Amino acid sequence: MAGSAHESTNQYLQDAFDVLDLPPKTEHMLRTPAREVRVELVITRDDGSVGNFIGYRVQHDNARGPFKGGLRYAPSVNRDEVQSLASLMTWKTALIDVPYGGAKGGIQVDRRELSTSELERLTRCFVENTHELIGPTEDIPAPDMNTDGQVMAWIFDEYSSFHGFEPAVVTGKPVDVHGSVGREAATGRGCLFALREVLGTDGRSLGDVTVAIQGFGNVGSWAARLFEEAGATVVAVSDITGGYHDASGLDVPALWEHVAAEGDLGHYDDATAITNEELLALDCDVLVPAAIGGVLTEDNADDVQADYVLEAANGPTTYAADRILEERGVTCIPDIFANAGGVTVSYFEWVQNVQHFRWTEAEINEQLEERFVDAYESLRRTMEEHDVSMRTAAYVNAIDRVHHATEMRGLQ
Ligand code: NAD
Repeated sequence: MAGSAHESTNQYLQDAFDVLDLPPKTEHMLRTPAREVRVELVITRDDGSVGNFIGYRVQHDNARGPFKGGLRYAPSVNRDEVQSLASLMTWKTALIDVPYGGAKGGIQVDRRELSTSELERLTRCFVENTHELIGPTEDIPAPDMNTDGQVMAWIFDEYSSFHGFEPAVVTGKPVDVHGSVGREAATGRGCLFALREVLGTDGRSLGDVTVAIQGFGNVGSWAARLFEEAGATVVAVSDITGGYHDASGLDVPALWEHVAAEGDLGHYDDATAITNEELLALDCDVLVPAAIGGVLTEDNADDVQADYVLEAANGPTTYAADRILEERGVTCIPDIFANAGGVTVSYFEWVQNVQHFRWTEAEINEQLEERFVDAYESLRRTMEEHDVSMRTAAYVNAIDRVHHATEMRGLQ
């Protein structure tokens, strides 16, 4: 499928394969998922009609530990996208060095069209159909687009009805239901650490930069808040309803309040309204795609004015766009590094569940920071050693770890 999300991911992989020189069989194994499941989900709607949905779980690789990856609910979910996202998880967990492999799931559904009880029935139906594939040492789902702590709590409960009490089957649970403090903010906080480290290399700091963020859900809203607290000027944000711009800096706490009251950014009237496409082309230092994949393409990569693209979303930059950005000297901080904070704190949550013990938020954030500093240090070494981009270096480091584990275990 040329130009698809999975094809883009495999092109990024190929650039790293060219550096590593692995046997063809290994390359083939690392390109393709270990297992894919497509399930038909049939629920009774509130009005008595039948609702029919398609769900996927793709398990990409488990050489380094149980499969791990989020579950997203969106109309655009398809097999190709889930394959790509599952592969990204393998590289992300390896790069940030948590003992997991990679997986991803999704249900083709517009969450806004379901009532809360329909959403619960759909989630439980998905678990009914997949509970033999998942488990604390098998495959551990987590939140992604349009899924949250509530959805994770239903997964935990439904899985436990088949297998007994087992909170470690899923992460991103609410703190009161065996979740971890710091998990909700973790992906945004990881973005902050990643950006801080990269800026530091260039002699810049968070206090000096202007930032535009696409997406104001879990990741985008936390990134905006933490960036602002760290001294950055957030000049634009957007969500599915459109965007808002103020060159002198938006009032991020007011945006949070607006979303808490209204459910989205729509009709925010303290800034200039812009489109999502305009946001990507704004005059700013750091552009942060934090919504859907494939938003930076060969058609708009030339319009990007930022010096840095911080990939908070998964797969926001197509391979063709990445080539253009690199040629133009725009630094891409790749998704498998930039947004690895979520899976890192998911790992901390899983550890706490397995040990029936709780960590403090300070411990969580400190450990998270350490992982980012270490991963960036080794990224920089690889960039210098092979004279490659940060993205290729990230893939090289990740593939190297997965390949090593595969060989040591005798899996090939
Ligand atoms: P979310 O559902 O909480 O928020 C998604 C945001 O994107 C919302 O503000 C929504 O309105 C906006 N959006 C959706 N479609 C859009 C469109 N067409 N144009 C502009 N905005 C649009 O999801 P999230 O958890 O914040 O995830 C966002 C991205 O980050 C996804 O790519 C996800 O895979 C990635 N990610 C999430 C986590 C996590 O811990 N939640 C971890 C790593 C990566």
